[in-house]
Amino acid sequence: MAADIIDGKAFAASVREKVAEHVARLKEENGITAGLAVILVGEDPASEVYVRNKGKQTLEVGMNSFEHKLPADVSEEELFALVDKLNADPAVHGILCQFPVPDHLDERAIVARIDPAKDVDGLSVVNAGRLASGQKALISCTPLGCLMLLRDKLGSLSGLDAVVIGRSNLVGKPMAQLLLGDSCTVTMAHSRTKDLKEVVGRADIVIAAVGRPEMVPGDWIKEGATVIDVGINRIERDGKRKLVGDVDFASVSARAGAVTPVPGGVGPMTIACLLANTVTACCRAHGLAEPEGLTA
Ligand code: NDP
Repeated sequence: MAADIIDGKAFAASVREKVAEHVARLKEENGITAGLAVILVGEDPASEVYVRNKGKQTLEVGMNSFEHKLPADVSEEELFALVDKLNADPAVHGILCQFPVPDHLDERAIVARIDPAKDVDGLSVVNAGRLASGQKALISCTPLGCLMLLRDKLGSLSGLDAVVIGRSNLVGKPMAQLLLGDSCTVTMAHSRTKDLKEVVGRADIVIAAVGRPEMVPGDWIKEGATVIDVGINRIERDGKRKLVGDVDFASVSARAGAVTPVPGGVGPMTIACLLANTVTACCRAHGLAEPEGLTA
């Protein structure tokens, strides 16, 4: 039976709608406008596109967008001075620095400089630690988006066997923590995992976050499993440029119960969750009730 195709684009639109409703309520009832600040260092064209998209979607949900473009040779001192200013600014509820940054800057140090209460990318040690210890955290946007898609598709995840392929701090590790939080039995696989086919074949939920085009074939997947493909890989096929995921969509969709496409699956959820995190951070900053369904 052909798998259900999980429409991440439509679901992301519904998340943005919820965010917009809550942003409007905060304005009306509390006179507060949620605000997101984005820092871009240098002129990487792909990063410029991401930042433009983030700014556009931020404004569309009614939030304030503050864009800070810094030259590629900006010193760490100058960048930190800007982060400190944004940390202290009550109009700014979320701060993110677009990565990668030029080599002379240290991404970890930048993340560490951002106030954890405004770390809407959920990358800081404080937020990772809070997530791991079951406390309220700001959660890395891509895994949060995957969790939302899974809950929407499956309802309760309790007791399901989940395999996360990939153990990055950005995706794999927080994803595994979120699934554990929802009472899945979680296996984390990586490049040293023995017999990945067998490990994946046990899973009711497979999250592929590897960065290798179409690495997971359909015959690895348990019949009826739910497959979330985080991968974004640019390849050339038949003389054409194409975007593909980490799973082989054609064979996987013939076996899985549900699967996310690439593009149009996890990708659109990432910015939607960034906006969700910003409104959550804004509510927490003001001690107000958080919107339901926009965090873990
Ligand atoms: P990383 O490169 O940081 O991590 C990749 C992980 O995959 C590592 O843990 C690595 O294992 C593991 N891995 C590599 N090769 C194999 C293999 N042959 N078998 C099993 N595991 C393997 O990548 P990210 O987590 O940052 O991103 C993963 C993918 O998700 C990329 O395609 C990226 O573009 C995409 N992505 C998409 C986003 C979205 O918005 N949709 C957002 C973020 C990422 P080891 O640790 O042992 O080296």
